[in-house]
Amino acid sequence: MNDEPDISRRGIMLVLSSPSGAGKTTLTRNLLEKENIEYPGKLELSISATTRVKRPSEIDGTHYYFVNKAKFESMRDHGELLEWAEVHGNYYGTPREPVERALSEGRDVLFDIDWQGTQQLRSKMPDDVVTIFVLPPSAPDLKSRLVRRAEDSAEVIAQRLRNAAEEFQHWNEYDYVLVNRDLQKSFERLRAILTAERLKRVKMPNLNVFVEKLLAELKALTP
Ligand code: 5GP
Repeated sequence: MNDEPDISRRGIMLVLSSPSGAGKTTLTRNLLEKENIEYPGKLELSISATTRVKRPSEIDGTHYYFVNKAKFESMRDHGELLEWAEVHGNYYGTPREPVERALSEGRDVLFDIDWQGTQQLRSKMPDDVVTIFVLPPSAPDLKSRLVRRAEDSAEVIAQRLRNAAEEFQHWNEYDYVLVNRDLQKSFERLRAILTAERLKRVKMPNLNVFVEKLLAELKALTP
């Protein structure tokens, strides 16, 4: 048996939450890049729909599906979203269909969503969801990362800092917590979590076939 992710298994929903500026987006991007080199096509990012204004560096369909409020409400009301929430005064939601397809085909899906969305996913799909909360090492560090990103106005940054306090309070609802002092270390820990979750017995449905083969081999060897 090889130790590659088993295509016959159901995928994992790996959910990352944190206040804006804790480094979650970089961790997410690095994880996708590295995983796709080692296990091509086994991990994909869930691309959310949002009513937020697109930042200059963002690409529609890659970072988000940028939609207006009417379109978002129509998606929501037609059951096309697995979860949705209002964050920083904008709507964000997870399109249902790509996630369900990926999971049923044995691919893992990475989510960058807030605590409200995480609660909804956990209550809808408790057997599939693994949750990770990313904390910044300090509040000044959080602020300086938001300022350094230089893609949001001073007013937006101030609002995000105010909202961080509420987001922080949900850290203890998550399975794992990463304090992002050192990006490389946090990244290694994030990969370790994904690897361990993939190796859970319940995630390997073909294991009994392998063990039966082992037993047959053992019997043949036993005088
Ligand atoms: P940003 O505007 O900085 O891209 O994201 C703001 C917040 O919205 C982040 O905390 C991010 O995790 C969250 N978010 C992004 N997409 C979704 C989504 O589909 N659902 C929920 N509930 N939150 C989301």
